[in-house]
Amino acid sequence: MSDDTDIEALLEEALEVGRAAAGAGEVAHYIPELAKSDPSHVGIAIATVDGGRYEVGDARVPFTFQSVSKVFSLALVLREHGPEVLDEMACEPSGDAFHSIVRLEEEQGRPRNPYINAGAILVSGLLPGGDPVAKVASLQSFLGEVGDGAEFRVDDEVFNSEVETGYRNRALANYLRHFGLLDDPQQAVETYFRQCSISLDAVRLARIGLFLANRGVDPVSGETVLARADNRVLVSQMAMCGLYDDVGRFAIDVGVPAKSGVSGAILAVVPDRMSITAFGPALGPKGNSTAALAALAHLSRRLDLSLY
Ligand code: GLN
Repeated sequence: MSDDTDIEALLEEALEVGRAAAGAGEVAHYIPELAKSDPSHVGIAIATVDGGRYEVGDARVPFTFQSVSKVFSLALVLREHGPEVLDEMACEPSGDAFHSIVRLEEEQGRPRNPYINAGAILVSGLLPGGDPVAKVASLQSFLGEVGDGAEFRVDDEVFNSEVETGYRNRALANYLRHFGLLDDPQQAVETYFRQCSISLDAVRLARIGLFLANRGVDPVSGETVLARADNRVLVSQMAMCGLYDDVGRFAIDVGVPAKSGVSGAILAVVPDRMSITAFGPALGPKGNSTAALAALAHLSRRLDLSLY
């Protein structure tokens, strides 16, 4: 990588590209609390495995974890239960929207992958802990472990908003229960809503994603967070399924594993180099941030990040 001044200038450029793209999107409305987000916010944060830290724009504006949480809940569940958890689902791109239910009927309730809602709800039910609060507390302490001991709190307004409106996610959980993949759909979906409501920002998200870029080892502490094979699951599934039905286009335009969420964050992982969070609450038609997509495409071109 070039020197710090170049990176900072490049980040400013990517920020402008992101800001120009923000106007093409709209904030999520189906979770009423998210509709209050400011669509003009754009922020980018980078953490490199060799200790570089960069940020620009609204990189410290809080947002909720939403679907980016699915990577971290799967990390903890793989660590606790081993790779057998993947026997419960497929690991293939769905080609469907994140909350799609259609294939569950065709495929006897078996989720297409761990990053669509159905698969993620199943994973949430497996988090260690006796109830949703305890399960998410175990996830929060895992985040502290990979995030310099920071505290990650739940945004109660967003959580309540999801509880009030999340009928589609409840339908997914009930479907899984019908096919015998879940014991307690109510508990699993409430855990899922809660993990999606954890509050963080771009700087923190880039930091907690750093082990993903470093084959399961946190380069700051030197601790092994996850076995290499488990980390490979997380990152390869990001590449295959991290942006739902936008994933092929993202592979062309950016070309690195990534996970998006409806609060407008995208966590991108460049193996052996860095993690990047791009954030902007305005979303395109597939539920991915227009600003983050544009900013990441710009960074990918300029820093030659594409794996392909
Ligand atoms: N909590 C959101 C939902 O289930 C997460 C979806 C997302 O970020 N793509 O609808």
